[in-house]
Amino acid sequence: MVCLTQKAALAEFVERQRKRGASIGFVPTMGALHQGHLSLVDRSALECDCTIVSIFVNPTQFNQVEDLVLYPRPLEADMALLSASACDALFLPAVPEIYPGGAVVRPQWDFGGLDKGLEGQFRPGHFDGVAQVVKILLECVQPDVLYLGQKDFQQYAVVRKMVELEQLPVDVRVCPIIREPDGLAMSSRNVRLGAEAREKAKALSQTLFALREQIKRGSSPLQDLLDPARAALEASPGIALEYLEAVDAETLEPVQEWNQTLTILLCVAAWLGGVRLIDNVLVSTTA
Ligand code: AMP
Repeated sequence: MVCLTQKAALAEFVERQRKRGASIGFVPTMGALHQGHLSLVDRSALECDCTIVSIFVNPTQFNQVEDLVLYPRPLEADMALLSASACDALFLPAVPEIYPGGAVVRPQWDFGGLDKGLEGQFRPGHFDGVAQVVKILLECVQPDVLYLGQKDFQQYAVVRKMVELEQLPVDVRVCPIIREPDGLAMSSRNVRLGAEAREKAKALSQTLFALREQIKRGSSPLQDLLDPARAALEASPGIALEYLEAVDAETLEPVQEWNQTLTILLCVAAWLGGVRLIDNVLVSTTA
């Protein structure tokens, strides 16, 4: 694996891959890598000749300075994990390399409402920052395929929309959520959970799994299932629920009923022990 910190060096690497006719898969990350990230690397290696991973903690997508400052940055461990993986090149730019004019978020796109609900209500401007950095990274890497995780489903929806609006020649593929044995979705933020919060955190995925079963079993209005589930989470000491919602996986608009033609995204966000966690499951005839 080569490690490149400059755009120019990355461009040379990409050029060499293109000359040998290699297809390129790209996995953008913010580091603090875990099996979830590595599953994206594996998928890319399976489908592409060359896999490029970026580690860049993007300042323009953080709404809270504290979250940005506390974001884990275990670079040595990340490099060791990537070296042992199928990653061919790591792009590790410093902030001025990505934002030579300063790390300022500039909203550029109308995402057709995809950015407004769910995370958008609680993290204003977050998706403008995400789409902005992904566009810059795509310009640097010029991949054939971009691999994103379902863990950040709304991010996937917004990035897919940006790629469509910009008519970028890249295929955007979404990969399943990798979980801990007790169901907790793997996340770089999990290392910040204290023992008590970590124990309680499994309630989020358990709630989603139980709701998925209930939805597929019966035809009651979703509200009748969501309200008690919300109330149970709200009543759990140590869990501060932000949202628990059922939306259409295409439009991210709220839905009232499930039917066999619809894919629902059930999603949750909550604070536990000072750490904000998100999770989701898809509900469809096949999921
Ligand atoms: P991040 O470093 O958190 O920005 O994540 C980088 C990529 O890894 C994003 O596309 C995430 O959706 C994806 N990802 C994060 N956690 C998981 C997980 N538990 N399973 C699968 N993909 C994940």
